[in-house]
Amino acid sequence: MRWSTTFIPTLKEDPADAEVISHKLLVRAGMIRQVSRGIYDYLPLALKVIRKIERIVREEMDRAGAQELLLPIASPAELWQESGRWEVYGKELLRFKDRHERDFCLGPTHEEVITDLVRRVVRSYREIPFNLYQIQTKFRDEVRPRFGLMRGREFIMKDAYSFHADMEDCRREYENMFQTYKRIFTRCGLQFRPVEADTGAIGGTLSHEFQVLADSGEDALVSCNSCDYAANVLKAEVRAQRLLGRNLKENSPPLAKVATPGKKSVAEVADFLSLPPEKFIKTLVYKVDHADLVAVLVRGDHEINELKVRSVLDCQELVLAEQVEVEKATHVAQGFLGPIGLGIRVVADQAIQGMREAVTGANEANFHFVEVDQERDFTPSAFADLRMAKVGDLCPRCDRGSLECHRGIEVGQVFYLGKKYSESMGATYLDADGRERPIEMGCYGIGISRLLAAAIEQNHDSNGIIWPFSIAPFHVHLLPINYKEEAIKEVTDKLYKELSKREIEVLVDDRDERPGVKFKDADLIGIPLRVTVGAKGLEKGCVELRWRREGRTEEIPVGEADKKITASVTEALRV
Ligand code: ATP
Ligand code: MG
Repeated sequence: MRWSTTFIPTLKEDPADAEVISHKLLVRAGMIRQVSRGIYDYLPLALKVIRKIERIVREEMDRAGAQELLLPIASPAELWQESGRWEVYGKELLRFKDRHERDFCLGPTHEEVITDLVRRVVRSYREIPFNLYQIQTKFRDEVRPRFGLMRGREFIMKDAYSFHADMEDCRREYENMFQTYKRIFTRCGLQFRPVEADTGAIGGTLSHEFQVLADSGEDALVSCNSCDYAANVLKAEVRAQRLLGRNLKENSPPLAKVATPGKKSVAEVADFLSLPPEKFIKTLVYKVDHADLVAVLVRGDHEINELKVRSVLDCQELVLAEQVEVEKATHVAQGFLGPIGLGIRVVADQAIQGMREAVTGANEANFHFVEVDQERDFTPSAFADLRMAKVGDLCPRCDRGSLECHRGIEVGQVFYLGKKYSESMGATYLDADGRERPIEMGCYGIGISRLLAAAIEQNHDSNGIIWPFSIAPFHVHLLPINYKEEAIKEVTDKLYKELSKREIEVLVDDRDERPGVKFKDADLIGIPLRVTVGAKGLEKGCVELRWRREGRTEEIPVGEADKKITASVTEALRV
C-alpha cells in the first residue's frame, strides 16, 4: 500500500483528553477518532489490526470446534424480562422503543438471544453439545467510558456460548476454551495471566479472566509467589488466620471509654491515641436491597470487599447508607459507630473474631471504646471473609507462598454458567430416558477492540507503537528517503513489487515529506520492520533494515533484499 493514497492522519501532539498511552498513540497514529464519548471511528490502520486479531480468534475458535454465527445487535425486552436481566442490568443497558412502542435494547452481551435460539431448536440430547460464537459490536452505556478503546460504550467483542447435556461436558468445554484463549493471546504476542474471577452481571459459578499485565490496567490482581494461584483482587480469597488458643477472658483489661473529640477516621483516632490501625475495628453501614441497614466490620488496616459482603448477605443491591439514614437508625454521629450496643444487624470480617485490646467507636459522639474484647463485648450475627486481599497475605491455596499485586487489563473472560439461563428461559432437552432437563451452558468473551489497546499498552516506547508481528497492520515499512530521486524510486518500487508477490505486507512511504517526518511517523505507527532506501546506502548497493523493537539495524545488498526480508518476516511470524 502506498502512503500517498492511504488515510493515515497522524498527529504530532497528544490529544488533550487522552490519559493512557494506548489512547494517545491510537489517535496520534491515525488509527481512531472519537465520535462521541466512548464511541470511535476505526480508521484503516486500526481495522487492519482488528482484522488480524479476529483472524487469530477465528482460527483458534474453529480449531477448538466452535462454529461462527451472527446474532442481531437489537433484541426485544421480552427476552431480557424472561432472564430477569431487564430489571437488574440497570443503566448500562441502552434501551429504546421501536415505532410500535415495543421495548428493545442494544446487546451488551447475548446470553438471552442465543438461549432463545437454542431452546427453539434443540429437542434431544443427540443435538448437543455445540459451541457457537460471533464477532460483533456490543453496546454498554458505561458510567465512565474512558481510556479510548479500553473502556468504550460501543466496542467489538467475540462472544461464544456452549450448550451441553451435563456439567462434566460443560466443564470439559470450559477447559477447552481456557486452553484456546491461552493460544489466542499467545499468538497475539501478549504477556497475560489467567486469574480467578467474579462472574458479575453475567452470572454463573466458575470464571476466569485473562488479564494483560500492564501498569495502566484498571484491574488489580494478586498472585502467589510460590504456587500458581492468581485471582482478580475482587475475587481473591483471604485465608482465615488460626486463632490463638484463648479462654482467658479475665485477662482482658476492662472496656474503657475515651474522649476522641472530633477524631473520626481510623487514621485520626490512631494518631490521637498512638495506636496502630490494626488495633481498630472499622464499622461501615450498608443499605441492603433498598431496605435493611447492616453494619459491616473490618479491621482498621483492611478494606471491605463489597462483592464478598453481597454474597454473604445474599443480596442484589448493596450501597453505603446515607449519613442521615444511619443517624436516624442508630442515633450515632458518623465516625463514632461501633458494634457494641449498636441497634442494627452486624456482620464481621473473620479477622475481627477474637480481637482483643481493640478500639472502636463508642456509639456516642466524640468517644471511642478501647480495650475491646470481641468475645466478651459483642457478637456479630456472622463472621466471614469480607475483606480485600492485599500484598503479603498468606496464599489461600498453598502453605508456602504469600500474595503479590499486579495491574491488569481484562481482555477475555470465560464463565461456567450452568443452568442460569436455561432454567429461567426454559431451554431444555430430552435425555436418553425421555426426561426433560435444562441445558448446561458456558460463555466465553474476548474484547477484540480492547485487546488492540492492551497490545499497545504492553508494546510501545517514547516514540510510538511497537506491534507484535502477528497483529501488525503491515509487516514492512518501506521508507525511501527521497522518492523523487530516480535511483531510489526504482529500487523502492522493485522491492515493493517483489515483496508483495511473496505476500509480505508492505506500506511504502512515497510521500513528498522530509526524512525526519517520515522516520517519526514510522516509529509512531510501529510497523515491526523498517526498510530504508537512501542515496548513501545505494552508493554501496545496500538498503537498511531496522527492527522497531530492538532498534537493531543491518545493511543488506539490494540484490538480496527481497529474499532476506521475506525470510526474516516469515521467521518472525512463526514465533
Ligand atoms: P469490565 O469488568 O472491564 O467492565 P466485563 O467483565 O463487564 O468487563 P465481560 O462481560 O466479561 O466484560 O465481556 C467480555 C470482554 O469484553 C471483556 O473481557 C473485555 O475484554 C471486553 N469489554 C467489556 N466491556 C468493555 C468495554 N466497555 N469496552 C471495551 N471492551 C470491553
Ligand atoms: Mg469480564
